[in-house]
Amino acid sequence: MSQTLKAVRGTRDLLPPDTALWNRIEAAARDVFARYNFGEIRTPVFEETTLFARSVGEETDIVSKEMYTWEDRARAQSEKSQSLTLRPENTAGVVRAAIEHNLFESGQLQKLYYIGPQFRRERPQKGRYRQFYQIGAEVIGPPSSGSESPLRDAEILEMLATLLDELGITGWTLHLNSVGSSADRARYNETLRAALEPVAPKMCQDCQRRAVTNPLRVLDCKVPEDQPIIDALPKIADSLDEDSQAHFAAVRSALDAAGVPYTLNNRLVRGLDYYTRTTFEFTHRGLPPHGASSAGTPVLGAQNALLGGGRYDGLSEMLGGPRAPGIGFAIGLDRLVLTLQAQLDQNPAPRQLADAFIAPLGDAIDATKLQAINAAALVLARELRHKGLWIELGEGSFRLKKSFEAADKIARHIVILGEDELKSGILTVKNFSTGKQTKVPRAELAVFLSTPASE
Ligand code: AMP
Repeated sequence: MSQTLKAVRGTRDLLPPDTALWNRIEAAARDVFARYNFGEIRTPVFEETTLFARSVGEETDIVSKEMYTWEDRARAQSEKSQSLTLRPENTAGVVRAAIEHNLFESGQLQKLYYIGPQFRRERPQKGRYRQFYQIGAEVIGPPSSGSESPLRDAEILEMLATLLDELGITGWTLHLNSVGSSADRARYNETLRAALEPVAPKMCQDCQRRAVTNPLRVLDCKVPEDQPIIDALPKIADSLDEDSQAHFAAVRSALDAAGVPYTLNNRLVRGLDYYTRTTFEFTHRGLPPHGASSAGTPVLGAQNALLGGGRYDGLSEMLGGPRAPGIGFAIGLDRLVLTLQAQLDQNPAPRQLADAFIAPLGDAIDATKLQAINAAALVLARELRHKGLWIELGEGSFRLKKSFEAADKIARHIVILGEDELKSGILTVKNFSTGKQTKVPRAELAVFLSTPASE
């Protein structure tokens, strides 16, 4: 016997009834985004490797060790082989698409959202997968469109608070920081480099390397022994110039005015190189913020944030586009589902049932009659479904007992359709919660099945 095949490590199949929750979250996100005037963008799942190397940054974990990259062979003389990568995140693809389609030329602010799979070769664990899903949004445009305004940052954060609240996520915390302009960051990087020189030899291997190549990334380290050293390093807030300080102060005062609570976290530099100024993460109670030394109680098993994002004022230029400051975020959909599932487990919702199960009563011996009653049942199901009812269709060869057993698990009613019912147009309907059996004329069936009064 050949070996059975399984989903690849770090990937998973999403099955009903879980997919209903995924759909509910996606629908809620689409609804909120529409109210904030965002439109959907769908970009390819793979892109040229250079896109991510240039934007996310060569020295980041994502680019240096987590990308699924391959040499895509040429199929024809006219084609060149090229290095392609499954997207590890979607912001770079969105900005690439906006440049390619000249979206910035309109002078308008672009407000785009996406929902889709991303791929990173991380060590799989609960809440961390190699194929995972993100819901994200970007607000980007030429400076004349107001894209640089701190109001954009505050609005995005207020929208996220609204989305989490509307989803019913309780116990979230917004962690907020500013990593300054690229000049501020460069200055801070040098301050850090100098401060790290004497202490780096006592730190983990990754930090020793980063202390030289990209000191800012040291703040992402989660090795417990390194935390006291990192906590004692200079803070980025002290390297911000006046403009960056004023921008950050304006973001905070708009959030204060809107009543969106937040916690300042000066270690929040985020794992991608393109961020400037405002950076943020939303964590869930029990999930400690990125890089925090306290372990917290990981209710969901994962040690990470629900979502993260920030401003990326130089990204468009990095990708060869015009100046187009922007801000965006990516929500980890898998983690949102885990969080909501954990909440629902404490407070389970009643199981959703179909309105009716149609049970054709056939004749197991006469194949022609069986075929006829099955076809009649399909017609009845079609009629009811077109009227908006949720119908499950049985099978004429089932005995009555088997139909009842099947129906009882999945529907509120069973509708019996035998030859007599077909002729008379009067159907027998049993309501499982009351146990009551009723004769219902076919023309009144849809109303009967959908009215709670029939219970
Ligand atoms: P990032 O793109 O790294 O800023 O991540 C944004 C959000 O995506 C995180 O806060 C997580 O919720 C989610 N995320 C990132 N990596 C993974 C992963 N490997 N598996 C599941 N969710 C992830």
